[in-house]
Amino acid sequence: GLEAVAGEAEAEALLRKNVLFTTLEDVLAWARSHSTWPLTFGLACCAIEMMATSGSHFDADRFGIFFRNSPRQADVMIVSGTVTKKMAPILRRLYDQMAEPRWVIAMGSCATAGGPYVRSYSVVKGVDQIVPVDVYIPGCPPSPVALIYGFQKLRAKIRAEARRGREVTARG
Ligand code: SF4
Repeated sequence: GLEAVAGEAEAEALLRKNVLFTTLEDVLAWARSHSTWPLTFGLACCAIEMMATSGSHFDADRFGIFFRNSPRQADVMIVSGTVTKKMAPILRRLYDQMAEPRWVIAMGSCATAGGPYVRSYSVVKGVDQIVPVDVYIPGCPPSPVALIYGFQKLRAKIRAEARRGREVTARG
């Protein structure tokens, strides 16, 4: 009677404390979000801040952010600088060469909306006209700390996408 109920409650409490319930999608999203490999791809002055982010002072490696030289090995494109119309098709090709899932960070006001060159005939007014953007970071240029904060936002988004995907599957 009562003893059995108490025993069950105790067992359940023990289970809650010691067993982690999760799904494979959550584990994958967690792993992906903590190991983002951005493509080394600097376009203008914002790229100087991007490079500083991976230097010893800001040490992006400690967040699992490792820059790669090949789009085949990268899953994040940081558009760090002014996107000219001449560069746009090359940027798109590099994006297409990245394996899925892949994400894009628009770093700075040029990548976000053309920045100081918004009236120029030769500049794309926002890289989201060329590739889908996941995180926009304001600034001219944004600091390395702002870029790291952008990566934190991307992490949260990667995990939220996995949850949303599961909800869609469950509804469908
Ligand atoms: Fe340079 Fe400012 Fe444009 Fe960044 S946003 S590339 S710092 S002009």
